[in-house]
Amino acid sequence: MAEIKSTPAEPAEAIVLSRSGHTISRRNIDPDALKILFRLNRLGFTAYLTGGAVRDMLLGKEPKDFDIATNARPSQVKKYFSNAFIIGRRFRLAHIHFRGGKIIEVATFRRDPGPDTLDLLSAGTAHQYAFGTPAQDAMRRDITVNALFYDPVSASLIDYVGGLADLSSGRIRVIGDAGERFREDPVRIWRVIRYAARLGFVIEDDIGREIVAQRHLLSACSPARLFEEFSKDLLGPQVRYVVSGLREHGVLRLLLGRIGAAFENDPLLFKRVGSLLDIADLEKSLRHDPGLTEMAALLFWPWAESLLSGAPPDPHTVLKKALLNAEMAVALPKGLRAQVIDIVALVARMIRALRTGNMRWSMRGRTQFAMASRLCFLIEQNRAPEAGESFEILFRQAFPERPGFGSKRRRRPRKRKPPP
Ligand code: ATP
Ligand code: MG
Repeated sequence: MAEIKSTPAEPAEAIVLSRSGHTISRRNIDPDALKILFRLNRLGFTAYLTGGAVRDMLLGKEPKDFDIATNARPSQVKKYFSNAFIIGRRFRLAHIHFRGGKIIEVATFRRDPGPDTLDLLSAGTAHQYAFGTPAQDAMRRDITVNALFYDPVSASLIDYVGGLADLSSGRIRVIGDAGERFREDPVRIWRVIRYAARLGFVIEDDIGREIVAQRHLLSACSPARLFEEFSKDLLGPQVRYVVSGLREHGVLRLLLGRIGAAFENDPLLFKRVGSLLDIADLEKSLRHDPGLTEMAALLFWPWAESLLSGAPPDPHTVLKKALLNAEMAVALPKGLRAQVIDIVALVARMIRALRTGNMRWSMRGRTQFAMASRLCFLIEQNRAPEAGESFEILFRQAFPERPGFGSKRRRRPRKRKPPP
């Protein structure tokens, strides 16, 4: 039976569930995260697991990362952990590095000082004024189900914001006044849509109305920060549902400019996007984790396909121009944009080759050939390729009599230099 105690705290009262009242087991927590939590505790600090890890464990899912919240200051974390690095300009936090590239984020409890106070403070000093209590830290978070704390020492769950109730009823609720929190940080609009989509939760009607009223503010956000969020979506689970959610709320056109508008206005085009993302989601859940470049190329493919349908002589130039003119709020880094263009142009050539039987195999030397070959197979077959399957196999099946990439080329005999 759940043991529920109320703990008075500022500014909210917490619901505390002891070990018997919840399903989180220490065995499911990353051992390095547990070590950090216990070590901070032994040093006399309060340290909780928080964010997506607590939410996902309560839902019986495997967490992606383990974020820690503590009353230790970033400088103290750095002092006690030799593998800790302080990052962040406005709000400093510690990243503790482990082998294999694993990073555990340790953030100091902070409060929401409100946009007015923050604007008056310079970037270097804001963090000093923003430390807070656990309750204040919960209140400054975005969504109730993302603001739960797990205390590893007592094995209890601490809920200052009603996140447990929302988790069991499948609701996404913004902490505080949704309109105000969206104005303070419009990226929260994106986050609300993301977690509703990933978790299959409902967005309450009043929050849905605030999204519509405030969504235009997303266009003014830092393009680099929007790219960070975009990457989280492409690399995360349920991309199909997240992108559909963004579309349904009229946010896709704000983020992806003309490309997003095309996806919003043309249901057939978006159907194509949806079915490709479905395949990628399935693939992610089974084995192969497509990287950012592959996911971006897949998302943009249906839009690019329509641009390249007239087989322009220079698809690279056409794509580059169209991407630059798309007026996206999300800034794709130059390198990624160039890779996406290369892949998409190659895929277009491969698909044409499957129709005509004409293939320039010299293209095999291109860096992006293998990735394009995978994507071409996926697009043509509506499923991800198994080991050994690729565009080349499809080509050989369609045109067995044509020379493939393995066949010897007939070379013209070299002219001998006449003797001097
Ligand atoms: P996941 O990592 O599974 O995508 P998450 O909830 O851990 O989910 P992160 O982006 O890792 O998401 O953020 C960690 C936590 O920081 C969130 O759970 C939330 O409490 C808080 N947070 C992140 N972004 C914001 C924001 N813009 N405003 C307020 N709180 C935020
Ligand atoms: Mg996280």
